[in-house]
Amino acid sequence: MAWRFALVIDPAASDDPRTDFVDTFRVIDPSAPALSVGELSTQRGDGIFESVGVVDRHPQELTAHLERLAHSASLCDLPAPQLEQWRQAVVAAAAHCPSGGEGVIKLILSRGVEHGPSPTAWVTAAAAADNTAVRERGIRVVTLDRGYDLDAPARAPWLLLGAKTLSYAVNMAAIREAKRRGADDAVFVSSDGFMLEAPTASLVLRIGGRFLTPAPNGGILHGTTQLSLFEHLAEQGARTEYATIPVADLAGADAAWLLSSVRLAAPITAIDGVDVPVDHELTASFNAYLLSPRD
Ligand code: PLP
Repeated sequence: MAWRFALVIDPAASDDPRTDFVDTFRVIDPSAPALSVGELSTQRGDGIFESVGVVDRHPQELTAHLERLAHSASLCDLPAPQLEQWRQAVVAAAAHCPSGGEGVIKLILSRGVEHGPSPTAWVTAAAAADNTAVRERGIRVVTLDRGYDLDAPARAPWLLLGAKTLSYAVNMAAIREAKRRGADDAVFVSSDGFMLEAPTASLVLRIGGRFLTPAPNGGILHGTTQLSLFEHLAEQGARTEYATIPVADLAGADAAWLLSSVRLAAPITAIDGVDVPVDHELTASFNAYLLSPRD
């Protein structure tokens, strides 16, 4: 990814009353080294992040992303982010995204340098990859065991299952395994047989006229794209539900999608080698909605 812009943030306290945080940003050369070798984000993946989709320089669903950043910080015992400060950093970065087209802004909050004074925080902007083909053609997925049952998040909160942490090595390994099995992406399944999420996306199924997604009960991220699409569908009178979805119910799906902030709605064409019907018209309408300015 060619980074176009980066700034380092001096994190403010969450109750800092300032309204202008521009003095707390330092623009840096996005292609030059910037982190200390003692950074815990790189040594241990100890930090959190958000990837915000940008369309025509408009950061999509920014409030939902900022709220999830705060939620991840709380789960990880990181200092609560000053959300107005992050909002202003994102707005500054958005001005460097493509003026006509799609971009991606990353927000990163790391625990900082070992024994250092404070967390490290930075924001980057880049042009997004072209996802047109995947949105139109779709993707084949395989189900992969995540190794945890549905009760694991409540029983073992230190697994940080509902936080968007920087430790994505497992998620990347799952995508590589999916490719080894001849698919494009994976969908995690709990060890007790329920659908969860993809390594970088939420799962939505249409079954009998209802749109279903696995309940974000702590074991999965609550996707900002899924949330926005469900609000849109509900406004149009469609039935949307958060549910506990047994793997066996996949066979009854009459359409399925992976949803995420940058790729948007990718229709699933096959699950574990079994074809899934694709509703191209509905998928196109989902992506048209997701590409419209959304706050
Ligand atoms: N689940 C996981 C594990 C993710 O990494 C992501 C996005 O990166 C999502 C779901 C979808 O979230 P969003 O729609 O906010 O991009």
